[in-house]
Amino acid sequence: MSTKNIEFIAAPRTPHFVGDGFRVHNFIPSGFRLDMERMSPFILLDYNSKYNFPPSDTPKGVGVHPHRGFETVTIAYKGKIAHHDSSGGGGIICQGGVQWMTAASGVLHKEYHEKEFSKTGGEFQMVQLWVNLPAKDKMSKPKYQGFCNDDINKHILDNNAGTIEVIAGNYKNTKGSASTFTPLHMLNAKLNTNKEALFSFPENYNTAILVIEGSVVVNNKENVITDHFALFENTGKDFKIKATEQAIVLVLSGEPINEPIAAQGPFVMNTKEEIAQAINDFNMGKFGYLED
Ligand code: MN
Repeated sequence: MSTKNIEFIAAPRTPHFVGDGFRVHNFIPSGFRLDMERMSPFILLDYNSKYNFPPSDTPKGVGVHPHRGFETVTIAYKGKIAHHDSSGGGGIICQGGVQWMTAASGVLHKEYHEKEFSKTGGEFQMVQLWVNLPAKDKMSKPKYQGFCNDDINKHILDNNAGTIEVIAGNYKNTKGSASTFTPLHMLNAKLNTNKEALFSFPENYNTAILVIEGSVVVNNKENVITDHFALFENTGKDFKIKATEQAIVLVLSGEPINEPIAAQGPFVMNTKEEIAQAINDFNMGKFGYLED
């Protein structure tokens, strides 16, 4: 066993609003320690920690905007999210569910609190990740993969330790529900008090955890509490997470995409020229049309 240790733990930064519906702490890319390269292929992580939205007749959210060159993954821990896009697609992200949207060559979409949730209001908690695509796949056709919680493959841990929801990649023999363009693992570890789970990823994979609920001890030495993020070193393979109280931990690990990154707003390409092209295509209406 070669232990993978924590490089640093990050507290949630001051939240900001994306539109009027997502109150997020940004963890990636947050300055020099967690730029888009350091956690590649995970190039952005916005976390809406538990927040109580008052009832609203008009669903809160973020209006029409484009994406090109990557995938957005939205995990709804509390509350429900509705989305619509310029190809006429739309749907609901269930509570406990995941939407994996491959924006690739380009989509225009909007993301809102689901209507009924909006009317009653209540606790809202979600994660949005941007997963980069390699150059060869950046201009592929957009697509969606949507999973309610029942659709997510689960690995039941021994000793009543809990459940690992395997969103992508694998955990032991359990394969992830979502397909990915590059090798990566995305897991929700739901651990019972004083129980633990072992994880093992290749040394070079960029690896991090975000504690969604409860608190945990990593490798019997470091405490990571609710809403905190821990980045792992790129040495060693194995680590252990023990819940000191009922916990939900988002575990991310992926093979870095070692290509240049040119990012501007909602576009993430390899070169400045491709960014200029994306802006031009957007201005020319090539991403289609979607009513606000
Ligand atoms: Mn979006």
